[in-house]
Amino acid sequence: MIAASSLTKRYDGFTALDEVSFAFPGAGIFGIVGHNGAGKTTLLKIIAGLVAPTSGELSVNGIDVVHDPVALKETLGYLPEESRLYETMTAEDYLAFFGEIYGIDKEEITIRTRRLFTALSLETGGKKMGEFSKGMKRKTAIARSLIHDPSFLVYDEPTSGLDPMTSRFIAGYLKKLKSEGRTIVLSAHNLYQVEAICDRVMILRRGKVVALGTMDELREQFGSITYTIWFAHPDPSRIDRNTVPYRLDDRGLACDAGDMAGLNACSAAIAAAGGRVERIESRYLSLEEMLVAIGE
Ligand code: ATP
Repeated sequence: MIAASSLTKRYDGFTALDEVSFAFPGAGIFGIVGHNGAGKTTLLKIIAGLVAPTSGELSVNGIDVVHDPVALKETLGYLPEESRLYETMTAEDYLAFFGEIYGIDKEEITIRTRRLFTALSLETGGKKMGEFSKGMKRKTAIARSLIHDPSFLVYDEPTSGLDPMTSRFIAGYLKKLKSEGRTIVLSAHNLYQVEAICDRVMILRRGKVVALGTMDELREQFGSITYTIWFAHPDPSRIDRNTVPYRLDDRGLACDAGDMAGLNACSAAIAAAGGRVERIESRYLSLEEMLVAIGE
């Protein structure tokens, strides 16, 4: 359970987070989304106990993070937006270095490293990290966040900059981490992935929470159905696009409407222009469309 009350963060008069309150109940994957500069990284750092809020309260699984941030350390795995890996080190030595900081014995570190690299499908070939691809570097950073077997993970854009295959692999891996009973709070710009893997999503805009809930709850909140009317017409070039703003794609002639009134108006305009409505499809707004709708 993560519960925040009136979290505010100011940097030299600039308010990055403004009275942010939320609760993520139980375990699961919680997504924080928003435009660039919305405050996602700032909030994640506060949740991880790495940055102190200017004011407000926050507890993670009963730990008062604001007043006792170090108490989280043992159970927290943090993945920064960009992790600086030591270019001249091997990934194995890198994990050993952090494992030792956590007081794990050498043999156990080797076992865990092997297990993590296998689970993450990371084949290092004994290379130095400076020679790694972006995907390999991200997987190494994720492995490093897990070396001490934490139950609470705070991941800042875990799949950013990765190719679609690697990105999808990491998303699947996050679901596996959840199935092992871990809680993950993440930020991401890949909104389709957020929809696919997150149990709850929070939308931040200029440091304020504008929406929070399961995807179903957000769809409800955004009031959210769009309609596409597919129609036939003997000569589309004769249709006045000002009255029927249609588009033509490989599935035929289509006209989009944002609500029921638009749907009725558009159907009537199609009929008046000599067209025949063939079918109507309804669709919920995607998370991406919600973000576009709230604006920057
Ligand atoms: P992005 O999607 O681009 O990573 P974000 O949602 O993670 O953005 P933050 O990095 O949290 O946004 O930044 C929120 C705002 O706070 C930005 O306007 C940023 O410039 C400002 N900010 C963040 N850290 C600092 C800092 N240390 N000093 C001053 N301003 C900061």
